[in-house]
Amino acid sequence: MKKADIGIVGGGLAGLTAAIHLASCGLKVLLFEKEKYPHHKVCGEYLSCEILPYLESLNISLGSLNPKPIDHLLYSTPSGKTIKADLKLGGIGISRYALDNYLYEKAKEQNVDIIQQTVATITFKDEVFKINTSNNQIVSANIVLGAFGKRSNLDKKLNRGFIGKKSGWLAVKAHYKLDDYPNNMVSLHNFEGGYCGLSKTETGAVNVCYLASYASFKDHKSTNSFKEEVLCKNPQLKTFFDEAIPLFETDLSIAQVSFEKKSLVEDHILMLGDAAGLIHPLCGNGMAMAFHSAKLASESILKYYNPNTLNRTDIEKEYIKKWNHQFKSRMKVGSVLQKILLSPYLAEASQNIIKTFPSLLPIIITKTHGEPVI
Ligand SMILES: Cc1cc2nc3c(=O)[nH]c(=O)nc-3n(C[C@H](O)[C@H](O)[C@H](O)COP(=O)(O)OP(=O)(O)OC[C@H]3O[C@@H](n4cnc5c(N)ncnc54)[C@H](O)[C@@H]3O)c2cc1C
Repeated sequence: MKKADIGIVGGGLAGLTAAIHLASCGLKVLLFEKEKYPHHKVCGEYLSCEILPYLESLNISLGSLNPKPIDHLLYSTPSGKTIKADLKLGGIGISRYALDNYLYEKAKEQNVDIIQQTVATITFKDEVFKINTSNNQIVSANIVLGAFGKRSNLDKKLNRGFIGKKSGWLAVKAHYKLDDYPNNMVSLHNFEGGYCGLSKTETGAVNVCYLASYASFKDHKSTNSFKEEVLCKNPQLKTFFDEAIPLFETDLSIAQVSFEKKSLVEDHILMLGDAAGLIHPLCGNGMAMAFHSAKLASESILKYYNPNTLNRTDIEKEYIKKWNHQFKSRMKVGSVLQKILLSPYLAEASQNIIKTFPSLLPIIITKTHGEPVI
């Protein structure tokens, strides 16, 4: 049986970053990922710059992937009325296809042992975890990080509270070619029952990703008819889809996107990224939070090993405290904003208020993001 200091379940942004951080500090790290790299993922692909200093400190230089620097936001209401704002901190447009694969290569450079299998169960007994894959490979680890994303088979196994509740959201993503779309702009367009984000990635393709309620989607046979009959009612989106050429054969989609509160520690497993909680996508901050949560957990874990100042209970308490301090209020602001944007009346009214008091928009954006993470 393989043994590791740290077992990480899920090789997305949070899992790979924690693996790189901990392995670079000399710990033996084993990471499980069920998908093969590289692969596309449903995501808006706008990464807030707040996290770049931390990534640089781990020798993760995203500049080498040629992401598109973004410093401009365009927002439109369902009727197509727009407001614009400069993004003080800004972000970069980068595909998950390139980003996750880059982190995967970095993790391998740090000698992280990456096992490409689905984890079926995680059990904790006598201070040791046993991680069991669907191929019956068993690995033991002192500490386990749950980085398995917004919804996983393991949520059911761990009997997590949110998994029993039906979620009313689905999400769709695809890349399009439209050279005229500005490199430095992320745009967010409301439609009835959801919103759609557009931004360019390192390849020059425009990533189109939307979140929609089942209530609005259920009467449509396909993402194509939904796009034509619902999204295109917003004139901004209609102009985009009339001109842009789809680059994917079929749209990627995910169901049951849940924004329910989640536990940060479950059976002594520290939860990272979306497994700890999903911020509403309109904030454009989920990826930065996934990276940041990896940092918070890694720093506490390092105190368990060296200089051995924290025990298991202390790590768990410290992680929960730091997570809440960093993210709790952004999650709340995101939830309120989503409610406002999804009410056609409030969306139009709030836009009029922002047009009258333009300084409000940068304040709202700041409230959904963090300070640069050093
Ligand atoms: C519609 C939408 C748009 C978004 N847009 C943006 C945006 O523009 N900007 C932004 O910052 N954030 C955005 N987000 C949020 C962002 O995508 C997530 O916060 C981020 O991907 C979280 O990373 P993660 O590492 O926690 O999870 P993931 O990247 O989902 O990684 C989890 C990994 O775990 C693996 N896994 C799951 N179960 C198992 C198992 N049992 N065994 C082995 N492996 C397993 C999965 O295959 C996956 O690779 C958006 C989210 C949605 C839903």
